[in-house]
Amino acid sequence: MDAIRGRFAPSPTGELHLGSAWTALLAWLQVRAAGGTMVLRIEDIDPERSRSFYTAALMADMQWLGLDWDEGPDTGGPFAPYCQSQRRHLFEEALQYLAEAGLVYPCYCTRGELASLAPHGTEGERPYPGKCRGRNAQEVGGRKPSLRLIVPQETIAFRDGVKGVFAQDIAAAAGDFIVRRSDGVHAYQLAVVVDDAAMQITHVLRGEDLLDSTPRQILLYRLLGLTPPVFAHVPLLVAADGHRLSKRQRDLSLASLRAHGARPENIIGYLAWKAGFLDVFSPMPAADLVPEFDLARIAKGPVIIGDDAAACSGADI
Ligand code: GLU
Repeated sequence: MDAIRGRFAPSPTGELHLGSAWTALLAWLQVRAAGGTMVLRIEDIDPERSRSFYTAALMADMQWLGLDWDEGPDTGGPFAPYCQSQRRHLFEEALQYLAEAGLVYPCYCTRGELASLAPHGTEGERPYPGKCRGRNAQEVGGRKPSLRLIVPQETIAFRDGVKGVFAQDIAAAAGDFIVRRSDGVHAYQLAVVVDDAAMQITHVLRGEDLLDSTPRQILLYRLLGLTPPVFAHVPLLVAADGHRLSKRQRDLSLASLRAHGARPENIIGYLAWKAGFLDVFSPMPAADLVPEFDLARIAKGPVIIGDDAAACSGADI
């Protein structure tokens, strides 16, 4: 088998926190356990939300944790650049290709129109009912359109490395989805597919919150004539109240944990214990965990982070 290529693809919209360190660690372990190549790609595609100081901070946090990469914004590599903000021409080329195949159309709907158009879909999203398919641009004056992909009536299924088979009728769940926003920013769904394919990523390990995006991405791979990678969606870390740990929970940012005396081996040991790789909590450098990695051992449900997170700062638990 050829060596695998995996990646960690954070959006620099906040500080690295325990939840993103969890995904980074598992993606890194998967690659290192297989002797593969680790890619760090910065998904700074949205200029309104991305900040370069978050990019610098998250790279420093990853290095501090002992999670290195073989290709990335600082190290370079055969598929540079590794920041999406510098790869817009590739997303535009892919759009051109889809447009020439008649697979995208401009959408002039306003936010208000969208809200009144559709009932909530199965995933709580509002599936777009296709109002602008065939709508005449003259009708809407000078409004700048977004671009939507024409979604076929079809269920897309794939086998996830953690979750097993996952199937979705994209038309019912999302409808014709946006591939470029009206402000010209390319949509995550398009950019992630173009970049994972261009960077020859074979294995995508990421958070479960992106599981229901994956059928849309698999559709894009197919329409662009590309081969999808193998996917594994790991459970999210949640607070004791069941809510997802978010970037807003500052006390669990790595910067804050470090300020409270956390050592990298405590954080890594804690996350490895939560993943199911260690029977009891014990501090451990990331490199020592590589032989323990096994996708089948990763907890399937949400992983609860309670008071035991104090172990990250060296407290007895
Ligand atoms: N940039 C996305 C995020 O930070 C992750 C994309 C992915 O792993 O596919 O949520």
